[in-house]
Amino acid sequence: MPIYNAPTKDIQFVLHDLLRISEQDIEGFDELDRDFTTAVVEEAGKVATEVLHPLNVVGDKEGCVMENGVVRTPAGFKEAFQQMRDGGWTAMDCDPEYGGQGLPYVIHTAAQEPFVSANMAFNMYQGLTHGAYSAIYAHGSAEQKQTYLPKMVSCEWTGTMNLTEPHCGTDLGLMRTKAVPDGDGSYKISGQKIFISAGEHDMAENIIHLVLAKIQGGPEGIKGVSLFIVPKFLVNEDGSLGQRNSVSAGKIEEKMGIHGNSTCVMNYDEAEGYLIGEEHKGMRAMFTMMNEARLGVGLQGYAQAESAYQNAVAYANDRLQGRDVTGAQNPDGPADPLIVHPDIRRNLMDQKSFTEGARAFTFWGAYLIDRAHRNQDADADGLISLMTPVIKGFLTDKGFEYATAAQQVYGGHGYIEEWGMSQYARDARIAMIYEGANGVQALDLVGRKLALDGGKHVMAFFEMIKTFVKENESHAVLNKDFLTPLKAASKDLQAAGMYFMQNATKPNNALSGSYDFMHMMGHVCLGLMWARMAKAAMEALDSGASDTEFYETKLATGRYYMARQLPATAMHLVRINTGGDTVMALEAANF
Ligand SMILES: Cc1cc2nc3c(=O)[nH]c(=O)nc-3n(C[C@H](O)[C@H](O)[C@H](O)COP(=O)(O)OP(=O)(O)OC[C@H]3O[C@@H](n4cnc5c(N)ncnc54)[C@H](O)[C@@H]3O)c2cc1C
Repeated sequence: MPIYNAPTKDIQFVLHDLLRISEQDIEGFDELDRDFTTAVVEEAGKVATEVLHPLNVVGDKEGCVMENGVVRTPAGFKEAFQQMRDGGWTAMDCDPEYGGQGLPYVIHTAAQEPFVSANMAFNMYQGLTHGAYSAIYAHGSAEQKQTYLPKMVSCEWTGTMNLTEPHCGTDLGLMRTKAVPDGDGSYKISGQKIFISAGEHDMAENIIHLVLAKIQGGPEGIKGVSLFIVPKFLVNEDGSLGQRNSVSAGKIEEKMGIHGNSTCVMNYDEAEGYLIGEEHKGMRAMFTMMNEARLGVGLQGYAQAESAYQNAVAYANDRLQGRDVTGAQNPDGPADPLIVHPDIRRNLMDQKSFTEGARAFTFWGAYLIDRAHRNQDADADGLISLMTPVIKGFLTDKGFEYATAAQQVYGGHGYIEEWGMSQYARDARIAMIYEGANGVQALDLVGRKLALDGGKHVMAFFEMIKTFVKENESHAVLNKDFLTPLKAASKDLQAAGMYFMQNATKPNNALSGSYDFMHMMGHVCLGLMWARMAKAAMEALDSGASDTEFYETKLATGRYYMARQLPATAMHLVRINTGGDTVMALEAANF
C-alpha cells in the first residue's frame, strides 16, 4: 500500500516565507495569518491522508461500474464525499451569498494539493463542480445563480463540463450538438458528448451539466457556440427536484487511469437546457474559468509526482542493493540501501526539486488570480494569462515524467501492480491531455499569449526577473548559486522570444519551437521561484529560525535545480533556433 503524508510544512513555507500572503494588500488576505493557514492546511492534510488516500487504490482497482444506466462509484467514495461536504471543503473560495466561505483562491489551492495527491480521481468530482460553479457565477442570470449555486457550492449537486464530441476535440468549431429554441425561453439540446468526467454517478442528488452546443441558424464554426445548463433532474420553482431530463450516460469509457472517476459518453435527446449568458458567446463563458481550471490541472501534474516521490524515497531507504562506492553504509547488512547510490540520488533530487518548485509556481499563480479578481489588477490578470499554458503544460509533462521516474526507483517492483506505483503514472498521464492537450498549450503560449497586449506581459515578466536580480546581486552566495544561472536562463528565453518575433511571418518556424519554448519558460519560472525561495530560506536562517535543517535542505534542493535542471534552457534554445526546416522536411507520406 503506497504511503502519503501531506507536505504541510512546505505548503506553509510557500504561503508565508515565499508569498508572505498575510502581508499582501488583497481583500481577504489579512485573515491568512500563520495560525489560520496552519489550521486549514493541517486539517486538509488529515482529511487527505485519513479519508481520501486509503480510497485511492480502491478507486483504481474497483473503478466505476454502470448497471442499468446507473453509475456506481467505488466503495467508500460516497461516504468520503459526504465528509468533504460536511467539512466545508467544497465551499472554500465560493461566494458567501451562495453558501461559500469567501476565502482567497490561494488558500483553496493550498488545501487542494493534499486532496489531489491523495486521490486525484475522487477529487475531480468536486473540481468539475467548482469549474461549473465558476462559469454560472460569472455568466449566469440572477435566477440561475439562485437556483443552482447553493447546491453546487455544497456539492449536493455536482457539475460537469461538456465540450468534446467524437469528431471534435481541440477544434471545437466542428461541434454538432444543437440547441433549438423551445418557445418558452428554454432550448432543446440534442447530440452526443464523449469523455465527460463525472458525467454520471451516485454521489449527488442532481448533476448540472454545462453543455456547449450550436443554436440553429447561428454563425458557422466556433463563433456559433453557446453554453447551456442542462440538469439531470429539472428543478421545480420551489427548488425541489422535478422530472428526469432526457440526458443519460451511454457508457463509461475504459481508460488507462483515474478509474475512480466516471468518464462517460453523454447522450442528449432533446434535453431541456437554459442558455448561460448571450447566444453564440459560449466560448467566452468557458474562457472565463480557463485560468483556474488549467491551474488546477497543472496542480494535478505535480501533486501526483509528489505522492510518487514520497514512496520512492521510502523505498530507496528500505531496499538493500549493492554497496556505496565510497564504503559500506550498512556493513552489518547484506547490502546498502538504494539511497546511497548517486544515480538514485540524482533521480530523487530531480523529483524533489521539481515538485517544490512547481508548488511555489502554482501557488504564485493562484495568488495572481486573487489579485486579478479581488483587486481588479489588470497586470496580474495579464501575467496569469501568460503563465496559464506554462503551468498547465510544463507541470503536467514533468509531473508525468517524475511519476515514472519514481517508478524507476523501484526497478521491476515499480512495474508490478502490487506496489501501487504504476497508478501514479497512469493517473498523471491524463493531465497532459485534457483541459487542452499540451501541444495546444504551447501553441496558445507562442501564438497568442506572448503577443497579448502588445507583448506587455512577457516584457513585465522579464523585468520582474531583472529587478529581482538587481536587488539581490550584492548577496554573494545568492548571486553565485541562484541569480547567475537565472540570468543565463532568462537570456536564453529572451533570445527565443526574439527568434519568434523575427520569424513572425514564418509560422512553421515559430510553431516548430513552441513546445520547446513552453518548457523553457517553465524552467525559467521554476528558476525564479527557486531563487526567491533561496532568498527566503537564507533570511530565515539569518534571523535565527529554529528549524535550520528545513531551510538548509531547501537551499540544497534549490542549488540542485539551478545547477542540473535550469541549464535545459540552452538546449531548448538551440532547438528553437533551428526553425522548422528539419521538423517539416518529410512529406506526410514518408512518415
Ligand atoms: C479521461 C478523460 C477525461 C476527459 N474529461 C473531459 C470533460 O470532462 N469534458 C470534456 O469536454 N472533455 C473531456 N475530455 C476530452 C479532452 O479534453 C480531449 O481529449 C482533448 O481536448 C483533446 O481532444 P481530442 O482527444 O479530440 O484530440 P484532438 O483534438 O484530435 O488532438 C489530437 C492531438 O493533436 C494535437 N493537435 C490538435 N490540434 C492541433 C493544432 N492545431 N496544432 C498542433 N497540435 C494539434 C493535440 O495536441 C493532440 O495531441 C476528457 C478526456 C479524457 C481522456
